[in-house]
Amino acid sequence: MKRKLVREALSSGELLGNKIKVGGWIRTRRDSKGGFSFLELNDGSCLKNLQIIAHEHLPNYRDELLKLHPGASIIAEGSLVESPAAGQSVELEADSIQVLGFCDPLEYPLGKSRISFERLREIAHLRARTNTFGAIARLRNVLADATHRFFQGRGFLYFHAPIITSSDCEGAGEMFQVTHLDLENPPRDPESGKVDYKKDFFGKATKLTVSGQLEAETYACALGNVYTFGPTFRAENSNTARHLAEFWMIEPEMAFADLQDDADLAEDYLRYLFQDILERCPEDLKFFNERIEKGLLDKLENLAEAKFTRISYTEAIKLLEKNSDKFTFKPHWGIDLQSEHERYLSEQLFKGPVIVMDYPKEIKAFYMRLNDDNKTVAAMDVLLPQVGEIIGGSQREERLELLEARIRETGMLPEDYWWYCDLRRFGSVPHAGFGLGFERMVRFCSGMANIRDVIPFPRTPQSAEF
Ligand code: ATP
Ligand code: MN
Repeated sequence: MKRKLVREALSSGELLGNKIKVGGWIRTRRDSKGGFSFLELNDGSCLKNLQIIAHEHLPNYRDELLKLHPGASIIAEGSLVESPAAGQSVELEADSIQVLGFCDPLEYPLGKSRISFERLREIAHLRARTNTFGAIARLRNVLADATHRFFQGRGFLYFHAPIITSSDCEGAGEMFQVTHLDLENPPRDPESGKVDYKKDFFGKATKLTVSGQLEAETYACALGNVYTFGPTFRAENSNTARHLAEFWMIEPEMAFADLQDDADLAEDYLRYLFQDILERCPEDLKFFNERIEKGLLDKLENLAEAKFTRISYTEAIKLLEKNSDKFTFKPHWGIDLQSEHERYLSEQLFKGPVIVMDYPKEIKAFYMRLNDDNKTVAAMDVLLPQVGEIIGGSQREERLELLEARIRETGMLPEDYWWYCDLRRFGSVPHAGFGLGFERMVRFCSGMANIRDVIPFPRTPQSAEF
């Protein structure tokens, strides 16, 4: 007999009255006086457990089943019947229960009592067996699938950006070095005494990528619309609840597109994600709404229909200056918006998502397109209530001279970006794109307080266990 998922057993009326087989891990066992036990079985396919009735006449009842504790693994076969108990529709009357692996309750860290998220990070290899982390895993999966479906549905090509790179996207953060040299005794240039990377694996110094954007632009300028969805790395030495050293990013890049097209795409993508999880993860979202963040469902439902306000950076600064007394960091033209400013705009002033456009060039990356005022660039940040920036994007500078000038202005050499500049030399086209930090999105949609709890194995300063 082929195994059915607990989700299928609980949801499809078709299985009712049939013999089925399920497999999973015991959450609880309760022994009744009437000569049988109730086993709550979870297999990760959904939040809910399937109740299994084990009668004492089962041959291994006394020797094995009475020794089942939380965490033990079993395969059970039996009839799926209507349940007389409140709060569940069906239960499994077991004909046979095969114990695959016992679990010692004295050693198993996930007993009945609640464990803090901090402690669970130390046992991250087991935390997927809890309700919260099971729900996070399923939400993550749906958000990833929705991302692919959104872009594929619009004809975007999935582009695989390299992970090892020799280009620094924007000085976006400290980069991790990738080397094959003997760190105890690296080869050195005899004259300068500096480490000789010509002798390194790639013949030059290499890093882990902080963004796939520059490479994605090369494909957009050949294939039209593309998107990346891959891991990125930043040696962020800040211990915050929103920074990881390894995180996943989604970066669409569109040819023949300007900043307005970019903002349109960002809006459509975000609304699509919110709609999709509301439709496909109702049970897990309800759980988050009850246990993690009160009001989460209302928030997501509002955003799924929300109108996005678009304003220029200059206008935003004027509005913030009028309320200057509300901020620790006083706003004025030229500053990078701080989290408190971003939240004030989306939470207080516009009460919804806001797209701020056209930032001062000094505070943005070299590749962003210079506007006609010569002071601002065609950049946009999408701000959401609670979190502030969720997406950062721009129209890219497609004019060679201006790009080279900007590279020099930021203290770099156009030669180091020769292939990137070539895109402007050979059939240049206007193009635009953005980046969304996947974990920031999972965190926002689940209400989890710390970004370390929305990725299976978080990498942060001083921590890379597992
Ligand atoms: P922040 O100011 O929050 O550090 P950033 O300006 O460095 O963000 P970008 O360089 O624009 O961010 O990166 C694109 C997106 O990647 C961000 O909008 C954010 O969603 C996400 N992101 C950036 N750094 C991290 C990180 N360390 N961990 C998780 N997500 C991140
Ligand atoms: Mn950063």
